[in-house]
Amino acid sequence: MPTYEYEACDTTKACPICRNGFEIYQPLDTPRLTTCPECGAPLRKCFSAPAIGRSQSSFDQRAKEAGFSKLQRVSKGEYEKKY
Ligand SMILES: [Zn+2]
Repeated sequence: MPTYEYEACDTTKACPICRNGFEIYQPLDTPRLTTCPECGAPLRKCFSAPAIGRSQSSFDQRAKEAGFSKLQRVSKGEYEKKY
């Protein structure tokens, strides 16, 4: 499943999740998020360098260290916070 990264356009109005950015798994047929599922703040998509040759676990570790939260779409309109 593709992973997308987003961050708040205006960090002064953002919640702790989107202030530092987060990544989310979304099916290809799902529209891109434009607002935070947590607080509704406007989001922009992040463009990060692809993690070539790195394992998913080390990516998760680096994402955590960078202050990212990880959300997983569990059902229509519902997101589970992974960390
Ligand atoms: Zn938010």
